[in-house]
Amino acid sequence: MAMNHLCFADDLLMFCRGDLNSVKLMLEGFKVFSEATGLQVNPTKSSIYCCGMSSSIQTSIQQCSGFKLDFLPFRYLGVPISSKKLKASDCDLLVEKMVAKIKVWSSRHISFAGRMQLVNSVLMSICVYWGQIFLLPKRITQKITAICRSFLWFGTYDESRPGSVGWDQLCNHKDQGGLGFRNISLWNQAAVGKLAWAISENSITEALASTQWLTDPKYSIKNIYGGLCTQQPKVHWHRFVWNRFSVPKHRFTLWLALLDRLKTRVRLFKIGVGDDPSCAICGSVVETCSHLFFECTFSTDCLQLVLNWLGYTVTKTNLTQVFMWVRRYCKKEFRRKVIFTALAGLVYQIWKARNDVVWNHNVPTKQFILKTIQFDTRHRIQNLLGKTVRL
Ligand SMILES: [Zn+2]
Repeated sequence: MAMNHLCFADDLLMFCRGDLNSVKLMLEGFKVFSEATGLQVNPTKSSIYCCGMSSSIQTSIQQCSGFKLDFLPFRYLGVPISSKKLKASDCDLLVEKMVAKIKVWSSRHISFAGRMQLVNSVLMSICVYWGQIFLLPKRITQKITAICRSFLWFGTYDESRPGSVGWDQLCNHKDQGGLGFRNISLWNQAAVGKLAWAISENSITEALASTQWLTDPKYSIKNIYGGLCTQQPKVHWHRFVWNRFSVPKHRFTLWLALLDRLKTRVRLFKIGVGDDPSCAICGSVVETCSHLFFECTFSTDCLQLVLNWLGYTVTKTNLTQVFMWVRRYCKKEFRRKVIFTALAGLVYQIWKARNDVVWNHNVPTKQFILKTIQFDTRHRIQNLLGKTVRL
């Protein structure tokens, strides 16, 4: 009789055919093991689970083994074991775990960049374990996505208002304009595919042999997931935004600015919020992203101050053009990264100044903005490199 088992720490699962003879043979086999090792089974902590068997056979197996009869699903290593497809209610624990984490974080003030990190590293990893074992029900993958989305944009777990950028776009790779989040549903398919691949390695049938990914000598979840995702055109500014030297919260604002998703007065006006679409700082032109970065006289002056500090004079007044200019004319990588760091800081400070005007009616001075950018840039780079950098 072929006998299969799973063993982890002091838990042991044994599987056999659902008839009395098979159970007897299995128990005899286990008795030999017990005599050889001295390890005894504890009947009070052991159970029998039966599927598709008549109650008379179940009773005789129970009497023969002395173990109590129990019912599926049960939990093994934290996940429910069942002979049927997983139901959404079986995965409630997964959702509860994510919500519990967010409830702890919600009491603290966390920036968008911090929340982005927490979604990617903590919330996503909670469902990775289950996602590699089961095909998660659609309702659960939707719920997980909704929780992550709500936390990223609003810092809570149950907000249904839309965020500034759609979830599908957030799941694009960073060089395609996204944040590199996982599309849970597609990643789950790729991860569970590895189990199918492992089974097919042992027993490949003719029908399966024609399926190329099942017959590949190596299975990579990452590659299969990449194949399942729809590839988007690359954006030319991703190195500018995701520059390692830049302060994370500056990167996030710069990313939103380049996607034109900052909640400028024009955008708010279009959806019926506010009655004045003009620039909060200068008040003379409508407030769009391209006006703020850097057509507005206030921001043009700040840009000149920052570039003069770095030893450049540029007359560009468009964020993308400034970035292209730096990429073309600044060949030294370190220097280029420093300029990108200062520019990301500038975009953040101008957006902050704009918000200051809207909420506190206070316009910071250009010199104050320059000094803040100088301080942030120096300290960030010195912290990262662990040495004094002259800027
Ligand atoms: Zn303006």
